[in-house]
Amino acid sequence: MSLFICPKCKEQLNKTANALVCKNGHSFDVARQGYVNLLMPNKRHSVSPGDSREMVLSRRRFLEGGKYEIFSDKLNEIVAVLSANSQKTTIIDCGCGEGYYDGRLCEQLDKLKINYELFGFDISKEAVKAAAGKYKQISLAVASTFDIPVKENTADIALAIFSPMVEKEFCRILKPNGYLIYAVPGVRHLMGLKEAVYDEPYENTKKDTMYNGFRLTDRCSATGAITVSGEEAVDLFKMTPYYYKTELSAIDKIRLKGEIETEIQFDFLVYKKEERKSNENI
Ligand SMILES: [Zn+2]
Repeated sequence: MSLFICPKCKEQLNKTANALVCKNGHSFDVARQGYVNLLMPNKRHSVSPGDSREMVLSRRRFLEGGKYEIFSDKLNEIVAVLSANSQKTTIIDCGCGEGYYDGRLCEQLDKLKINYELFGFDISKEAVKAAAGKYKQISLAVASTFDIPVKENTADIALAIFSPMVEKEFCRILKPNGYLIYAVPGVRHLMGLKEAVYDEPYENTKKDTMYNGFRLTDRCSATGAITVSGEEAVDLFKMTPYYYKTELSAIDKIRLKGEIETEIQFDFLVYKKEERKSNENI
C-alpha cells in the first residue's frame, strides 16, 4: 500500500511492480528514480510548473554548500521534539524541493532512533526527480499543495518550508492534534543580497500568523550571517522569488560584486490542528 491516493478518484493507490494503481484502474508509473507523477492538468499551473532543472541544480549546489544548515538544524530540532513520544510519526513535506531538508531530517531522526515515515511532494517534476535520485528513504510524488494526494487525517506533522499556506489542505491531511511547521523568511532575510541588487531594497513583510483550523503553539527563529560571492551568490539569488522579476544585468551585478555579506533568517511557526467544536457551524 502507498500513502498516496489517486488524483482522479481519490481512492487509495496500491503498489504493483512498476506502478501505483487504484481500485478503479487508474495507473501511475513509478519512474526509474522511484517517484510517481500524480499532478493533474490544471488551469492554475502550466504543463511543467515549478522550478526548472537549472533552478533545481543551483538550489542543490547552494544548499549542499551548508550555508543554510542552521535552518535545517532548527527544523530537525522542532520535528524531533514533536515526534519524541509517538510510536510512529508520519511526516509529509508539502513542497519538498530537491530534498535537502528531508535528507538531513531523516539522518537526524535515524540518529535519535525516532520511528517515522516521510513523504514529500513538489509541483516541480525536476525537483522531485532530483530528490528521488538521492534520498531513497523518502516516498516522493509530483503534486500540488492545492490538491495534496493524501487522505484526510494522515499526517502527524506537515512541513511547509517557504511553501504557499494552503490551510484547508494542510488541515485536511493532518490527524486531529497534528502539527504544521510553517517556515517563512524573516523580516531581514537576505537583506545584504538585496542591497547588492536594488537601490532601495525592502524588508520582507511579517506574515500573518492566524489561520483557520490552527492554533499557533510555538514560534522561533534561526538567524545568521553568511558571505557569498560569484556563482554561489547567483545560486542563492536564483532561489528567491526576486529572481523572476530581476533583469539579467542585475544578476551580473551579483556575480561581479565580490564578497556579499548578508543576514539570513527563517521564522518557524508551529501550529496545532484545532479540534472542531461540536457546536461550531461548518
Ligand atoms: Zn483512481
